[in-house]
Amino acid sequence: MDTVNQIWDRVLETIRNSDISEIAYSVYIKCMEPRDIEDGEMVVTVKNDWLKNTILELYSEKLLEALKQTLGIPLGLRILSLEAAADDPGATAALPILGNGFPTALADEDYSFDNFVVGKGNNFAYAASQAVADKPATVYNPLFIYGGSGLGKTHLLCAICKEIQKKNPRARILYTKSETMTNEVIEAIHDGTTPELRAKYRQVDVLLVDDIQFIGGKASTQEEFFHTFDHLHSNGKQIVLTSDRPPREIATLEERLQQRFVMGLMADIQPPDLETRVAIIKRKAKMLDLPIENDVAMYIANQLKSNVRQLEGVVKRLKAQYLLGNEQPNLMAAQSAIRDIRNDNQPVPITVERIITEVARTMNVTPDDIRSKNQSASVSRARQMAAYAVRSITNLPMKDIGEELGHRDHTTMVYAIQKVEKQMEKDPNFKNMMNDIIKNISEN
Ligand code: ADP
Ligand code: MG
Repeated sequence: MDTVNQIWDRVLETIRNSDISEIAYSVYIKCMEPRDIEDGEMVVTVKNDWLKNTILELYSEKLLEALKQTLGIPLGLRILSLEAAADDPGATAALPILGNGFPTALADEDYSFDNFVVGKGNNFAYAASQAVADKPATVYNPLFIYGGSGLGKTHLLCAICKEIQKKNPRARILYTKSETMTNEVIEAIHDGTTPELRAKYRQVDVLLVDDIQFIGGKASTQEEFFHTFDHLHSNGKQIVLTSDRPPREIATLEERLQQRFVMGLMADIQPPDLETRVAIIKRKAKMLDLPIENDVAMYIANQLKSNVRQLEGVVKRLKAQYLLGNEQPNLMAAQSAIRDIRNDNQPVPITVERIITEVARTMNVTPDDIRSKNQSASVSRARQMAAYAVRSITNLPMKDIGEELGHRDHTTMVYAIQKVEKQMEKDPNFKNMMNDIIKNISEN
């Protein structure tokens, strides 16, 4: 792995070899100090605001181009002025995000509109995404795309990012996942940097949040997101959200957020029909330069019906076999690739560790807290909830549950679980939250 400095040196080299004048290079380019690569952006510092603004105005395109050329993938650029940072500690976060904010791993995949196969199940979501990319914040705001796993939600989100960026390279686009957002909120509360976090989200032109369903039950994230949403929406900024279910089915989503989510356009994606599945297999094969006969594509499409990710997985496996043996994929090869994919997609076994982690995450404590002797109200509560979740998901005997939760005895566990059950009877919100936690664990 190259260090940030090494990467930056190569970027400088690229710019130096371009048509830039010697003077401009030494005044505006050389003065930048690389600091980090963060959230898909190269972060650099300059001495003062004046330099920052001039560089942004005159050289941002050149810099983005050089970054892309050097790394082979698009990377955003964030310039921090040390002057601003010294005056006002909150200012650094409020600087423009240039380029795209989507994770570099996604930038790698060819998630474009062109590569999206349109069929009956997804044409509405596709058309809505295109309309939003075409005229952000004018037609549908927010756009809420929902549907099962592996049906192309992330693909469409990235296609929107890319298209907006292509049309307007200066648009400040931020792609994030709701889990990242949750972690950021927890960290910001812990470090006392909530204003900076707010500034980061509120300065964007387009905010795309993937898998927003995980915001369910996360009270502080919902609170922050609600205000960010209103701020962006009322300032004419585009918001796009994806989810595996419609807002009303995200049980512990605050009423006011539910209302916000449905006020634009809701677009669902249904599993593709047979023709669309065949077309997707052929498209993916073509992208990989893999010759594939109709009967083979048809066979795969008939075997795997509900998840495009799996179709893609089969094509990738066939390609690997093709490279090894150089034989065009036949039915037998397809059959064994399908078998592999099915085995690969067996759900990850649910471990007690995973349950503890999910409960801890929801309750803003750590898994170690749950297993510790800490008796503070919030930790005890989380521990009781973990006991309940482990009990309902695994059916482990009480004695073992007690062991897993920090060597506690059997009666303590019985008491903990009863307490949660009583609370669930009394408080429908708590009940929803508990059920959501269990649903999250069982579905992932
Ligand atoms: P989701 O986010 O809904 O779980 P993804 O967007 O990650 O699903 O899609 C899974 C894979 O399937 C990706 O590689 C994506 O490119 C592919 N895919 C899904 N739908 C389509 C489609 N209609 N056309 C082409 N590829 C698709
Ligand atoms: Mg996704």
